[in-house]
Formats: sequence, C-alpha cells, structure tokens
Amino acid sequence: MLIVQKYGGTSLAGAGRVHAAARRVTGLYQQGAQVVVVVSAQGDTTDELITKAEFVNLRGSAREMDMCLAVGEQLSAALMAMAIGALGYPAISLTGWQAGITTDGTHGNARITGLGNDRIQKELEKGNIVVVTGFQGINPKGDITTLGRGGSDTTAVALAAFLQADLCQIYTDVDGVYDRDPRLYPGATRFGRISYEKMLKLIEGGAQVLHDRSVEFARDYHIPVEVLSSFTGAPGTIVGP
Ligand code: ADP
Ligand code: ASP
Ligand code: MG
Repeated sequence: MLIVQKYGGTSLAGAGRVHAAARRVTGLYQQGAQVVVVVSAQGDTTDELITKAEFVNLRGSAREMDMCLAVGEQLSAALMAMAIGALGYPAISLTGWQAGITTDGTHGNARITGLGNDRIQKELEKGNIVVVTGFQGINPKGDITTLGRGGSDTTAVALAAFLQADLCQIYTDVDGVYDRDPRLYPGATRFGRISYEKMLKLIEGGAQVLHDRSVEFARDYHIPVEVLSSFTGAPGTIVGP
C-alpha cells in the first residue's frame, strides 16, 4: 500500500505542527504502508519570500523568482525529514529536481510533465519515508520552476498518479470540501464525497482549497483524493469519480 500525504502551509507553521504531522506520517508507516510526504512552505513563508524579492527588484526575472520561492518548500522538507528522524523512523527529503519532477518551461506557472527518474521508488524500497518538496520541478533546461500558488496539491496528486499510489491525502486547515468557504460562511455544508467535475466547478468559482491542476491530474489518472484536517485527522471529503 502506497499513500501520498500532503501537508499545507498552516499545517506546518511551527515546530509543534511539523512534529504533529510527522507523528501522523509515522503512524501510517508503522501500519506497514509506504509513505511519500509532500510539503508546502511553512505558514506565510512564500508571501515573505515574494516580499523579500520585491524589495530587491520589483521586476526580478521569473527564473530568479522561482529560485527564490522554491526555498520555502526545501526548508519544510528538511524539517519534516528531521522531525520523522527524531521519532526514530528513516526518512529522506528530496527537492523537486532530485525527485525527478519534470515540468514545461513556464516559470511561475509550470505544468508537471512527468517523473524523470526512479529516486523516489528506490528510497521507498530502502524502507525510507520520502519527503518531497511541493510546488516545484525542473524544466527541460535544468532550471527550477514553480507550479503557481497552491501548486503543492498538484505535486502530491501527480506523484500519486506516477507512483500508482492507492490514495492521496491532502491535509489542510479545514476538515474537508464545503459548498462555500467555511471560514467566510459558517453555515456552509461539507461534502462526504464530491466528483472531480463538481470540484473543478467549485474551484472555478473561487474555492482555493485545492489547486485546479491537482483535480485534473486526479481525474485523468483516476486517483481518489481525500481532503482532511491536519489538526483532527478525522475522515474528510473524498474527491473521486
Ligand atoms: P493549504 O495551506 O493547506 O494548502 P489553503 O489555504 O490552500 O490550505 O486551502 C485551505 C483553505 O481553503 C481553507 O482554510 C478555506 O478557508 C479555503 N476554502 C475556500 N473555499 C473552500 C471550500 N469550498 N471548502 C473548503 N475550504 C475552502
Ligand atoms: N507555498 C506555495 C504557495 O504558498 C505552494 C503551496 O502552498 O501549495 O502558494
Ligand atoms: Mg493550498
């Protein structure tokens, strides 16, 4: 059984939350599953990196912006691997390019095109929990690209597709997908299941709980995606056929 778990920025904001996520990951590993963990940058890190870059050059090139923004996820991946190590389990962190995530050449909004090596499989076979940076890949020139805001969801689902995972779990700061943003509308209704097509419509209407391309990947490769709370771990919403 192979499961891909993705943890969003709020779910990793601070050492306590990184450790909580690591405990969840190792709990699954202990049950015998192979686990690939995809991480976002912690908290507001990506926004802070954008501000830092803009202080230096308001019109920095898209290539350099990607070099800058990819840093946030790299830090998260290293911290997550260290947190798993602290619990006594084997883990290794990989950047997008180490993991072989190839993209087209569109800096700032790149599309994942494939998995260019078998590093993740090799590490899983060695018994490692593999932690991969979300939101980034490498273009045909060998340069780092990023996938657009919220793109770590797409990294997770794409890896689930390429590795033929049994399930992709998106751990976030709400306990599932609702008909409206539950933070703005306390009366919003939660879905137990939602179809890929209906999810894409919700996203079109502004629901940024999932990156649109992640749902397209899930639909095209028939990957069930569960959106659930990193704080409770209670069953969330299954996005499926
Ligand atoms: P993460 O950092 O985990 O990727 P995001 O901020 O990208 O989290 O997505 C989760 C947020 O999406 C929630 O905090 C919620 O406010 C917002 N959201 C917007 N629309 C919806 C919806 N229809 N259902 C659930 N959450 C929604
Ligand atoms: N860190 C990136 C962002 O803030 C990617 C992600 O969180 O999915 O948009
Ligand atoms: Mg997100």
